[in-house]
Amino acid sequence: MSTLTHRIWMDEALVEARAAQEHADVPVGAVVVRDGRVIARSHNERERRQDPTAHAEMLALRAAAREIGSWRLERCVLYVTLEPCAMCAGAVVLARIPTLVYGATDPKAGAVGSLMDLARDERLNHRAEVIPGVRADECAGLLRRFFHHRRNAARAAARDDTVRASAGTGAVTTGDGRTR
Ligand SMILES: [Zn+2]
Repeated sequence: MSTLTHRIWMDEALVEARAAQEHADVPVGAVVVRDGRVIARSHNERERRQDPTAHAEMLALRAAAREIGSWRLERCVLYVTLEPCAMCAGAVVLARIPTLVYGATDPKAGAVGSLMDLARDERLNHRAEVIPGVRADECAGLLRRFFHHRRNAARAAARDDTVRASAGTGAVTTGDGRTR
């Protein structure tokens, strides 16, 4: 498949990633493509479901298996906006996914090249072809903005609490709790 094709499908994964933000989940999206069409699409729902395994890839792989009626996801390409973690990279191997395409690298938890390389480990019974870095800037930018906004919101909330706590005492405090 051409680079352009990968970019187009990654765009679908980006649409999913943006949808995750609507329920305050870290924006990671995934789609599974088979024979030139999307058969499953999901985004991270860990917060929404309060489920530690509800990563975009896991949900997409499960939906794809339901769709084709088989746990063997042959001829399927998994597109995901962020390098998969150990759980998801493991699931890629278990699902026999032949091709994995991802966007941004994840130096803190990535298990497809960053911390380890589960998807291409010769000791396992299946290996995926891996195409990293597709639309990496857009995928990473979405995550950067999400965490930036979340940090700002947390700071604003802390500031409000501090102001409320000091009301009536005459003390003026800054957002980080120091008394000026
Ligand atoms: Zn994961």
